[in-house]
Amino acid sequence: MARLPQLAVFDLDYTLWPFWVDTHVEPPFHRNRDGSVRDCNNQIITLYPEVPDVLERLHGQGVTIAAASRTGEIHGANQLLQLFDLDKYFAYKEIYPGCKITHFERLQQKSGIPYSKMIFFDDEKRNIIDVSKLGVTCIHVQSEMNLHTLTKGLEQFAES
Ligand SMILES: [Mg+2]
Repeated sequence: MARLPQLAVFDLDYTLWPFWVDTHVEPPFHRNRDGSVRDCNNQIITLYPEVPDVLERLHGQGVTIAAASRTGEIHGANQLLQLFDLDKYFAYKEIYPGCKITHFERLQQKSGIPYSKMIFFDDEKRNIIDVSKLGVTCIHVQSEMNLHTLTKGLEQFAES
C-alpha cells in the first residue's frame, strides 16, 4: 500500500467552495427549510460536489485533516464548515489573514506531525510556493478539489 500523509491540509476559498467567503457571499449563513445553505441575501451556497467524498475518503484512511485559510471572514468560514457538516472532519482549523507559513507552523506545533508527513491542497500559487519551502508536499488545485485531484496528490506524496 502506498505511503500516506499523516496530515492533509485544505485551503477553503476556491479549493473546497467556489467563492471568496469575504467577497462573493454575505454572512451570516443559515440552513434553509429545504436543506440548502444560504447567505443573508438568500443566495444558495454550495461546496464543490466531491468535497464531502474527498474528506470521507481521507478520514477512512486514518489521515488527520486540517483547514488553512487566509480569509478575514473568520466567523463566516467557520459557520460554513459547520453548516456543511464538515466540522467533524477537521481536527485543526487555522483561519485568519497572513502568510500561510504561520498557519503551518501552528499546525505543526499543535499536531506534532512533521512537515514531511503533510500534504496541502490550495488553488493559489503563492501559497503553494510559500508552504513548499517548509518541506510540505503541496498540490496546486487547478479547478476544484475532487477525488481525481486527491488521488493524484496522494500519488505525488507517495513518490516524494
Ligand atoms: Mg483559495
